[in-house]
Amino acid sequence: MDCLFCKIASGTIPVKPLYEDETVFAFADIHPQAPVHVLVIPKVHVQSMAQAGDEAMLGHLMASAARVAREQGLENGYRLVLNTGDDGGQTVNHLHVHVLGGRHMTWPPG
Ligand code: C5P
Repeated sequence: MDCLFCKIASGTIPVKPLYEDETVFAFADIHPQAPVHVLVIPKVHVQSMAQAGDEAMLGHLMASAARVAREQGLENGYRLVLNTGDDGGQTVNHLHVHVLGGRHMTWPPG
């Protein structure tokens, strides 16, 4: 399958891991939108939240995002984002959690 994030998760495209275990991989976003901007992805290919049915995988993905935030020193707070589908602004069709922090976030999002 021609999926960029599958290639990153499998090491076919070498990217420095910020966290990795058997089922998830975390790496720095190439176009950071905050001082800390990390993507946490499942190693298994899932297109988006709209296709995600494995609750254990989703739970571990979110726990891993919180772990990454902790390890990145975001003790003052952070934002987790899951853009989903066209209206959600998703551009890479492999489920990913954005971990954004290191500055004050505003609301509403764009
Ligand atoms: O949620 P969305 O699909 O828009 O996010 C995709 C993210 O993947 C973007 O923040 C983009 O900067 C990031 N990206 C990356 N490395 C790539 C391609 C995209 O970090 N090679």
